[in-house]
Amino acid sequence: MKVAIAGAGIAGGYLAKLLAQRGISPDLYDGMNHTTRCRCRSCGWGVPRGIETYLAEVGLDLAEYFLNSMSSMNFNGMAAETPLCTVNKPRLIRDLTQGAGLKHQDLGPDEATGYDMVVDATGIARAFLPPCRSDLILSTLQHRVVVKSPGNEHLKAGVYGNRIPGLGYLWVFPLKKNQYHLGVGGVGLASPDRLLDRFYHDSADRFSFTPLCSCTGSLRVASPCQSTPFYLTKTRKNGPPQVIVGVGESIGTVAPFTGEGIVHSLECARTFADCFPDYERYTKSVLSKFTWMKKERETLDYFLSQEGKRQPRLQDRWRLFRNARRSGIGLPMMEAFRQAGPLLHWAEDPDPCF
Ligand SMILES: Cc1cc2nc3c(=O)[nH]c(=O)nc-3n(C[C@H](O)[C@H](O)[C@H](O)COP(=O)(O)OP(=O)(O)OC[C@H]3O[C@@H](n4cnc5c(N)ncnc54)[C@H](O)[C@@H]3O)c2cc1C
Repeated sequence: MKVAIAGAGIAGGYLAKLLAQRGISPDLYDGMNHTTRCRCRSCGWGVPRGIETYLAEVGLDLAEYFLNSMSSMNFNGMAAETPLCTVNKPRLIRDLTQGAGLKHQDLGPDEATGYDMVVDATGIARAFLPPCRSDLILSTLQHRVVVKSPGNEHLKAGVYGNRIPGLGYLWVFPLKKNQYHLGVGGVGLASPDRLLDRFYHDSADRFSFTPLCSCTGSLRVASPCQSTPFYLTKTRKNGPPQVIVGVGESIGTVAPFTGEGIVHSLECARTFADCFPDYERYTKSVLSKFTWMKKERETLDYFLSQEGKRQPRLQDRWRLFRNARRSGIGLPMMEAFRQAGPLLHWAEDPDPCF
């Protein structure tokens, strides 16, 4: 079977390694047409430490990529313990794709016809599968900055839903050598640059910020359930049918509340490798593993509806609490329930900052 993987991000790179372990040598394509300074897709680089079991499976060690701990984080003003950290994602992608004979070009439709199976690991582009059943995309803006403080104070890692005038949040992720990722993401954010400027302004008495780079991005928070179909079979002129199958963010394996996609895309790629070549079993397995994403998406849809602009329901608050628990974040239940409130600020006043 001739296999191509389109996309050498986290999902495509990891899948190439897993398939190689199973004796399949896919052709891996990625033009890496990213305009970012790090030459990767825009990303905060935050992961749970549990990523180490995925890395160990392909002979990689988290210590090689670890940048900074986020064991204590600020959530809308409240400190909580977390298992999160930041990793050097460009280096991780480089190591995942090393030895896979990465072709530094995008896979086009013409070359694709030469393969019996094409894995669509193209993330937000979803270049080979038809559009999702019901897509939901967040827009983002992220800066990499050097943060200094006259009193040697450290800017704490944090996530602030209350600084965004809609569904979304602002994140502060420490990297290394006083460098941070500072970003905002949300549904239909009108002035993301002003939201970041406001954060700089509000913190100016304690910290100075020197920008190193800036990138915009998009994030699919549709959930896998709303990103079907995951695969399809095409007829070819002079050959057997061709299968197109999606892995990673192309099929929505991103947490709708938080936008975490790295570890879930790894899990998706592992599920694919375990089920290969049973695409129906793969589909069922992904839908079942990520049922919670379907529920979070349902909450986002509710907030975006006219009806949802009044109050978070009990199930929305419960889902937020479950989200924090799943991510290992030590928010007490009542606090997690309270945090559902800021999600609704925009409903009462769509643009409270301006
Ligand atoms: C601003 C921002 C911050 C984020 N922060 C975090 C975070 O801190 N933690 C976290 O867990 N998640 C985060 N995410 C989400 C996370 O980055 C993604 O969900 C995850 O990287 C998805 O991996 P992927 O491999 O499926 O897709 P991608 O990483 O998007 O990889 C897809 C690849 O496909 C390539 N491609 C596109 N078309 C073709 C083609 N025709 N042929 C060949 N290649 C092609 C692209 O060049 C790209 O390299 C963030 C996202 C954004 C936008």
